[in-house]
Amino acid sequence: MPSAPPETLDVVIAGGGVAGLAAALALSRLPGKPLSITLVDPTALPASTPGTPGAWDLRVYAMAPKVLAWLAELGLQPLLDARRTQPIAEMHIAAGAPPKGLLLSAYEVGSTELAVVMEEGLLARALRTALQVGGRVRWISGSVSALTQTEGGDAVELTVDGDTGAQQLRARLLLGADGKHSRIRDLAGIPFTRRPYGQTGVVAHFASNQPHHAGAWQWFGADDVLALLPLPDSADTRAAERGRTGHAVSMVWSMPAGQAQAWLADDTGQAALDAALAERVRPAGFELQRLTPLAGFELALSKVPQPVRGRVMLIGDAAHGVHPLAGQGLNLGLHGVMALHRALAEREAFRDCGDARVLARAVRAHAERVAGMQLLTDQLATLFHSTRPWGRWAAGAMNLLGYSHVLKSRLVRAAIA
Ligand SMILES: Cc1cc2nc3c(=O)[nH]c(=O)nc-3n(C[C@H](O)[C@H](O)[C@H](O)COP(=O)(O)OP(=O)(O)OC[C@H]3O[C@@H](n4cnc5c(N)ncnc54)[C@H](O)[C@@H]3O)c2cc1C
Repeated sequence: MPSAPPETLDVVIAGGGVAGLAAALALSRLPGKPLSITLVDPTALPASTPGTPGAWDLRVYAMAPKVLAWLAELGLQPLLDARRTQPIAEMHIAAGAPPKGLLLSAYEVGSTELAVVMEEGLLARALRTALQVGGRVRWISGSVSALTQTEGGDAVELTVDGDTGAQQLRARLLLGADGKHSRIRDLAGIPFTRRPYGQTGVVAHFASNQPHHAGAWQWFGADDVLALLPLPDSADTRAAERGRTGHAVSMVWSMPAGQAQAWLADDTGQAALDAALAERVRPAGFELQRLTPLAGFELALSKVPQPVRGRVMLIGDAAHGVHPLAGQGLNLGLHGVMALHRALAEREAFRDCGDARVLARAVRAHAERVAGMQLLTDQLATLFHSTRPWGRWAAGAMNLLGYSHVLKSRLVRAAIA
């Protein structure tokens, strides 16, 4: 006898990264009749243990004030350990050698901070704790391996491979939050383009000889962008144990992939990176000592012209990828979740959560921000890194002071928006 079809859930979210977790939390808090929500991720839902004091995740993000305000509305604020977060009050930007350049200040735009630096793990733990406390979201440990949209267009059917075998789910809306190599995007046949920058983002944390005064630093070089984000002073106790000050910064150095490969290859390469970094930051008064291993991330511009097909919608990195020089990838993903949240909250009573009109409204509300951020980051990345003679000439001949007000206002708007 054929088995009975599975019950139709309201929402299945594939991917338990920050975008998927935030979507699960936001959608579980919608007013009215609660949606039935299932989140699928290869990892098990871990117990919500606090972060290890002294040890810091390598992935740290500069989170925009508007995104943080929205997360606070969802009740996340008390779950984010303030000792592990660091506001950025000003940003020093230079083309060429420091200390020349321009200063973006939160005060200039009437804000107390441009962004707040925090670990990915801190954010993910807070979101998981909120989900566990709310108790409205079911977690399945597994990967989505197949999907079909039903003929009548009323649901998506999917197969989830887990430790205990395969199981079938049926949902009115499937959110693909499964990152830049999204399987959901492929399975749903959603077209996308991906243009590698030929660059790698190399990250590590460093003890610093001097306080950062809540400042972030960014240097645009001939073929790289070097950024230092401030970490809380007590961030790494090992720095203090070694008799250092306890001041710490997190580095994101976007550089040609070949250079990164050579520097990441072995101890000799890593020592060469440390030496090159020391030279770059010395004019700004920094002496840095590496506290963590180095890690590299391939950088690419990904575009998904239409992130909805039927009842499948992509969010987060599955829907767009940007160069990290403006620190906006995850912020952009969370703005997309906010747009979906709003479209669902405001939908007419007769429309279900996977209704084409509702999803189209969410995409429309987010599209301009995505296009703007992709243009801004792509222009900055390609202008400063152009290998073409005219591009080099433009970057070289550009009078930074003349350009600064444009750069400044666009970067400030990007940071605080
Ligand atoms: C060097 C660097 C610095 C950055 N700095 C910043 C910054 O300062 N600010 C900022 O806003 N952004 C920043 N970003 C961007 C940010 O890292 C990403 O935008 C963000 O991590 C994307 O989150 P996500 O949840 O969409 O995807 P991910 O974090 O990739 O999560 C995807 C999830 O999907 C799961 N998954 C995969 N396949 C399946 C499947 N088949 N079924 C179910 N689940 C699946 C995975 O296990 C994972 O949990 C930076 C990026 C880089 C590379």
